[in-house]
Amino acid sequence: MTTEIIPLFIDGAWRTGAAGDTIPVVDPATEEVFSSVACASAGDLDLALDAAARAFLSWKHVPAAERARVVGRAADLIEGRKFEIARILTRENGKPLAEAEGELQFCADASRWYAEEGKRAYGRVIPSRSPDVRQIVMREPVGPALGFAAWNFPGGNVTLKIAAALSAGCSIIVKPSDETPGTAAAIARCFEEAGVPAGVLNVVFGPPAEISRHLIASPIAKKVSLTGSTPVGKLLQRQAAETLKRCTMELGGHAPVIVFADADLERALDALVAAKFRNAGQVCTSPTRFFVHESRYEDFIRGFVERTQTLTIGNGLDRTVSIGPLITSRRRELMDGFVQDATARGARIVLDGGRRDGKGYFYAPVVLRDVPDEARIMTEEPFGPLVPVTPFASFDEVIARANALPFGLASYAFTRDASTVARVSDALDAGQVGINHTSVHEPETPFGGVNESGYGAESGIEGLDAYLRTKLVTTLAL
Ligand code: NAD
Repeated sequence: MTTEIIPLFIDGAWRTGAAGDTIPVVDPATEEVFSSVACASAGDLDLALDAAARAFLSWKHVPAAERARVVGRAADLIEGRKFEIARILTRENGKPLAEAEGELQFCADASRWYAEEGKRAYGRVIPSRSPDVRQIVMREPVGPALGFAAWNFPGGNVTLKIAAALSAGCSIIVKPSDETPGTAAAIARCFEEAGVPAGVLNVVFGPPAEISRHLIASPIAKKVSLTGSTPVGKLLQRQAAETLKRCTMELGGHAPVIVFADADLERALDALVAAKFRNAGQVCTSPTRFFVHESRYEDFIRGFVERTQTLTIGNGLDRTVSIGPLITSRRRELMDGFVQDATARGARIVLDGGRRDGKGYFYAPVVLRDVPDEARIMTEEPFGPLVPVTPFASFDEVIARANALPFGLASYAFTRDASTVARVSDALDAGQVGINHTSVHEPETPFGGVNESGYGAESGIEGLDAYLRTKLVTTLAL
């Protein structure tokens, strides 16, 4: 059977890799290989680096308003093709179509937001100590950038890097995940058709370790932006240190949820069940450690199980499905390991899901109660549809337990008390705190982690700032 080969995009041309190697792309709902992706050779990567270097020299001088028009046109194209691209995304990634369509709408909205914000990369004039001196602070694009992106938001992770870099005046080489290349290629075509000049955007695929090592070693690239796991973040940061490249690290999380005694339990449960099973739990901000006040513990568990039992698992292309498959078979083994470890340490299963027979990497939700904080599921990012629940008694106790891990991405609290809102917002050690809801990422709000969840931000003015550097021009009047 011949399948489509998704090409590389280098210097304005779509091409197969020089070595002719490809990686199969698998539909996680059927286990069918339905396309493959071209692998970049070292020569292809050098072409991309040279193209990005050349293109940067002209793109940085294109007026911000014109760059905004190009990125804005890309946003319109993404929005216009959202249903078409969403089908590719669902086939590669497994998430239900409605989620895929929502993600593509986010891509369009974020591109539009960055396009406009690129016009506001303001510098400033600093009053001088001498009447003859004028001091101007300029904001300039940092240079050719590198973007490495995870498969869990195949559209969003890639678009945030492209739109920010281009709006700031940088060129970029993006390395999307090889599990989800079709979505990235479809988005790149929108930018190409919007009028992005050759070399300003390049997309490469292939073995991640070799590609990142080669690209990051190059002095041409001035910036690394990774959306991925914490171990890969540490590796890429070490590589980037050789040439002192600036990094934005969007890494893993392990989000605590605190349900206080005065929470609106029905609304909390609705929000948390929806957030937990988004992309089958494979979301960096997914609620993953459920701390519930002992007075609401039994009601919370009952309500969570009841709601979860109404969800349908299946192929995301079916509109009635609310939970798709995991991305690979291996992730199911990891889920089994977490559950076995937790039960061996005394946790009890209250909703027994797990693997399903037949094709597809499906894994039904598992809800566990009385999970000790030492269980692996409470310390390692689970990235799947597992729900460990544990009771707590006091504010200080739960904050200490919530903050006990090296991660610090998202965190959530549910309470109706204004003073608890203020105290918990201050106390949680995380880049995002969601109170009484779980929406912690919009195009205009900064999104990023602290501690081993990374540093820097995407979206918001901080997201544009990540691709800008500062230059002082001080002029003595003669
Ligand atoms: P990953 O770290 O394995 O891969 C991410 C990117 O790094 C991909 O482009 C991949 O090709 C590349 N990569 C992978 N292994 C590499 C290696 N050895 N050397 C160099 N590059 C390598 O992550 P993943 O499994 O694709 O994604 C899941 C992780 O991403 C989770 O930890 C999740 O929390 C995190 N994530 C974080 C955010 C955020 O914004 N903080 C968003 C989404 C996902």
